[in-house]
Amino acid sequence: MRIVEPWIEVEKIDGVQIMKRIERACRTCYRSEGKITEDSYKRLLTNCINRGHESVLEHEKVTVRIYNDIGSYKDLTRHRFASFSVESTRYCSYDKDKYGNEIAFIDPVYIEDPKLYEIWKDTMQKIEDNYIKMKQLGATNDMCRELLPHSTAAEYTMTANIREWKHILSLRTTSNVHPAIRQVLIPLLKYFKEQMPEIFGDIKYDEEFNPKYYAKLTIAD
Ligand SMILES: Cc1cc2nc3c(=O)[nH]c(=O)nc-3n(C[C@H](O)[C@H](O)[C@H](O)COP(=O)(O)OP(=O)(O)OC[C@H]3O[C@@H](n4cnc5c(N)ncnc54)[C@H](O)[C@@H]3O)c2cc1C
Repeated sequence: MRIVEPWIEVEKIDGVQIMKRIERACRTCYRSEGKITEDSYKRLLTNCINRGHESVLEHEKVTVRIYNDIGSYKDLTRHRFASFSVESTRYCSYDKDKYGNEIAFIDPVYIEDPKLYEIWKDTMQKIEDNYIKMKQLGATNDMCRELLPHSTAAEYTMTANIREWKHILSLRTTSNVHPAIRQVLIPLLKYFKEQMPEIFGDIKYDEEFNPKYYAKLTIAD
């Protein structure tokens, strides 16, 4: 078995250009396109958000790829205005060479007590042993996947428009959210705050969450 770290990859974006395109769309409402200047998007977006005129944020979207545990996508796929493509436990057969003939589990680094961690690790090993054993006895993927726990690593691609990202990141970066989700979404929120401060700047997140747990965030070319 492999114990792996989560990561998040964000498509290359230019936050200012995203905000300017939203401004252009929004100004249709007032036919005030003539008022566009180099930084007029800042005031316009702040006013829209303060007044709840948020549908304009739906004109732009961002796609990310996430490598994390199954539990994280179980929660995130509840967001109905986001789109997902998720690694299938029905089509991916972890006893195959492509997967190194083993199951990858996301390291639950937030289980800090060594005794608890050992119980987790021992359980994952047993699960993998039995997955491979069932495969050797002719079980199908559909049968074997019944053994897979929340910790199983999976890749998923997630796309949402800016309004939905604002909603998801407000809900999913606070202290009552599962740490596996905070691990990937706090770094994403911090990146969006840098890129689009007028839109994401006010979102509160769990600042007590230890940055050593943050997943690595990379930007796709
Ligand atoms: C800390 C936390 C704990 C949770 N615990 C549980 C749990 O124990 N069990 C459980 O089942 N779920 C749980 N959830 C999931 C939660 O109830 C939501 O299903 C999930 O967060 C998606 O949120 P949403 O509906 O706001 O978002 P989205 O689906 O992203 O929708 C965005 C917004 O659109 C509007 N909207 C969407 N659909 C409708 C609709 N049909 N009618 C009216 N308005 C709509 C709402 O304003 C909504 O906020 C939890 C979520 C969080 C953050």
